[in-house]
Amino acid sequence: MEFKDFGFDYLTLEQIRKEGFEKPTEIQEKCIPGIKKGKDIAGQSVTGSGKTLAFSIPIIERTVPKEGIQALVLTPTRELCMQVKDSFDDFGKEKGLKTTAVYGGTDIRKQIYELKKSDIIIATPGRFLDHIKRKSVYLKKVKCLVLDEVDRMFDMGFIDDVDRIIKNIPKDRQTLLFSATIPPKVKSIIRKYLKSPVMVKAQTMIDSSKLNQTYYEIDRKMKFSLLVYLLKRKTSGFSLIFCGTRVEVDNLTANLKKSSIDAMAIHGGLTQNRRIHALDSLKKEKIHVLVATDVAARGLDIKNVTQVYNYDVPKTSDEYIHRVGRTARAGKSGEAITLLCDRDHSNFKNVLSDKRLKIERKEIRNIPQIRFDRNIISQRNMRNKRGYGREGSNNHNRRKSPHSFKGANEPVRE
Ligand code: AMP
Repeated sequence: MEFKDFGFDYLTLEQIRKEGFEKPTEIQEKCIPGIKKGKDIAGQSVTGSGKTLAFSIPIIERTVPKEGIQALVLTPTRELCMQVKDSFDDFGKEKGLKTTAVYGGTDIRKQIYELKKSDIIIATPGRFLDHIKRKSVYLKKVKCLVLDEVDRMFDMGFIDDVDRIIKNIPKDRQTLLFSATIPPKVKSIIRKYLKSPVMVKAQTMIDSSKLNQTYYEIDRKMKFSLLVYLLKRKTSGFSLIFCGTRVEVDNLTANLKKSSIDAMAIHGGLTQNRRIHALDSLKKEKIHVLVATDVAARGLDIKNVTQVYNYDVPKTSDEYIHRVGRTARAGKSGEAITLLCDRDHSNFKNVLSDKRLKIERKEIRNIPQIRFDRNIISQRNMRNKRGYGREGSNNHNRRKSPHSFKGANEPVRE
């Protein structure tokens, strides 16, 4: 299938050409015809599958400039909100459409002004609900509602706000829902808000000609040393390292920094500002290594990831595929490297039982051992509490440790 088969207009096809997209992705192929016909759709797909384009183009093609807000997209995070707005701008600006991103932590008066002139809104639930309460947004003309990354809306506790928002949207709308996973709670949202929905599932594609998948069996004591060894050999692109819990993410990041690797952490326990800072640093190439939990990484569109590391082994092959699908995208090549020690074997057996996967064993010997400090975070917090390394003894001046956020020591699996 080709983009022109969807019957898109000239400006859209021209923009697709400029973006360099050669063929529709699976989710685009499966969703676009139904969305164009006005059907409600529940799509299971991850970030990076091209789902934003799947809904943004049909919405843009039917939105009329200066006729009020005709589409609303709800996203769980500010980062995703900005990503989606950029996509709407790329395809909608030439057509005279105004898309506004509405999220917390910014000047609400400016947003109120912008909302009055907008045709399409991309919003995070909390701030948008604020606007509804203030009556600063007119929603009677909304014809299409998109709920993006709904499983994360649940994870982040936003689903009640989403519920309240939906009550304010006209019932005779089209509703599109996207989620990386469809657990029972997401199914109940589908039943509640979508009319005769078309269920669409897109596999995260693994192109084995582009993705080189390997694993190392290594003694637990040497796992960190091997990771540092491999990271230091790499010369270009970004590395994304997955860990199962927030504590592991923080400990690993702090230990990598101690080994002079410019890494940053991203997980649900960090403030949005800190997460945006990490992504900005990545975009500006100030860092080349991001350590993440699955949930935190799910909504991020990070370009140019050349290596994905499984520092722990995911429980299922689907999780494995979601992780490694962050590299070798859009025709580029990439590597997925799994570091396996004794406690990972049963999970890895599950992963290997998936016949879609070809993961080759690699051996490595004689790498220098580097100590992994398990207590690096708690020691830091202790030092901060004692006022170690700060001027004077005035508690007001105490500098917060970058890792001293609430819940840092709880092993939260996101
Ligand atoms: P998503 O987060 O699922 O919307 O995916 C967004 C990423 O997919 C962006 O990096 C886009 O540039 C890329 N993308 C979207 N559609 C295509 C396509 N048809 N071919 C290649 N890359 C695409």
